[in-house]
Amino acid sequence: AHLDRIAAVDDRVHAFLHVDAEGARAAALEVDERRSAGEPLGPLAGVPVGVKDIVVTRGVPTTAGSKILEGWRPPYDATVVERMRAAGLVILGKTNLDEFAMGSSTEYSAYGPTYNPWDLTRIPGGSGGGSAAALAAYEAPLTVGTDTGGSIRQPGAVTGTVGAKPTYGGTSRYGLVAFSSSLDTPGPCARTVEDAALLHAVLAGHDPRDSTSIPQPVPDVVGAARRGATGDLSGVRLGLVREFGGEGAEPGVMAAFRDGLDALTKLGAEVVEVSCPHFQYALPAYYLIAPSECSSNLARFDGVRYGLRVGDDGQKALEEVMSLTREAGFGPEVKRRVIIGTYALSSGYYDAYYGQAQKVRTLITRDFTSAFEQVDVLVSPTTPFVAFPLGSRTSDPYQMYLADLFTIPTNLYGGPAISVPVDSRRACRSASRSWRRRSPTTGCTGWQPR
Ligand code: GLN
Repeated sequence: AHLDRIAAVDDRVHAFLHVDAEGARAAALEVDERRSAGEPLGPLAGVPVGVKDIVVTRGVPTTAGSKILEGWRPPYDATVVERMRAAGLVILGKTNLDEFAMGSSTEYSAYGPTYNPWDLTRIPGGSGGGSAAALAAYEAPLTVGTDTGGSIRQPGAVTGTVGAKPTYGGTSRYGLVAFSSSLDTPGPCARTVEDAALLHAVLAGHDPRDSTSIPQPVPDVVGAARRGATGDLSGVRLGLVREFGGEGAEPGVMAAFRDGLDALTKLGAEVVEVSCPHFQYALPAYYLIAPSECSSNLARFDGVRYGLRVGDDGQKALEEVMSLTREAGFGPEVKRRVIIGTYALSSGYYDAYYGQAQKVRTLITRDFTSAFEQVDVLVSPTTPFVAFPLGSRTSDPYQMYLADLFTIPTNLYGGPAISVPVDSRRACRSASRSWRRRSPTTGCTGWQPR
């Protein structure tokens, strides 16, 4: 059914870069066999899943949204993929993303953008726009994303779906195409919090192949999600960050956020204002740390080891082939970040830029620690603006970077975070209306919210 759905709508949504119909059918049959053989399988056995194309899949193309990896078929599975296969999840294919997960709209994908299923003229968020759009368009019930600065949560927010960033080290980075290694975190995307929790339970857990993986048991987030669904929040203290008091966010976004807060206080939660004075420096610190790490990680794409090779005519020097390959293989945003990162790490500038950003990161961590002495959770809008029209921010990188104003502090700290629709029942009702209204454009009729 999901393959049919993809065939019906993905030419308009473009959530997928690669659909592995044959692999998915074979995996589904294998799950049946394992079940008949009496193998105890988890609650998600047989459930289809889309995987962001920056997570490596054995034998299935993995591009990271870049021309430089076109045609590469990895010889191994990422740990999160291995775990999903073991749990009987069926991989439908690979979802679109900004090149190397750098971006907030999926417009920086070298293979063309993904369109927001609610309004095909608008962006589905990024970098994991494909994973979020696939959920919103009912092409997949679950998807996997990666969150370095907000790439699971911001696409969730602008597509009315749920995106959860696990604790850094809670899910293994083994088999992610590395962007910023001290921040990269794979995690679940779903249409409900409980679905996200169920997928998290499959993805999370210690992995000796990732040196920053947490060697501790995974907390029971499925139980927590189910307890949360009972609707009693008495005794829960929500921290409202004073420094996020509305500046930088569209008035409509703040109004929706306040509606959400009201709903939570009606369920018994208490709102406490907390101060996190260094959060205002999170965005600039991130845009030094992430490019610095990316400039180092992306050095491996040299035309020798993987994918694209340009200018290798037997005459040119190796360095020239590398340079021609990188010139042709990387898009403008990736080049911008490699250049910024190389500059920030160069001798003479290291202390002033990278070193300074690391100190800011420590101060932000202290803000979180002191906030959590007063409250159980911090709340904010996920993103300062609603889904913007395609093309409206691509010419101004700073405008694009602002999409992660609220999400980035958590990445620098390393804690878990989730984006949820303000009122999922209302969102579902208007989703079904909007789909009907738009069905001539998208052809996306015939589904019912669960
Ligand atoms: N928008 C951020 C960036 O461009 C987020 C990236 C991410 O989380 N992968 O770096």
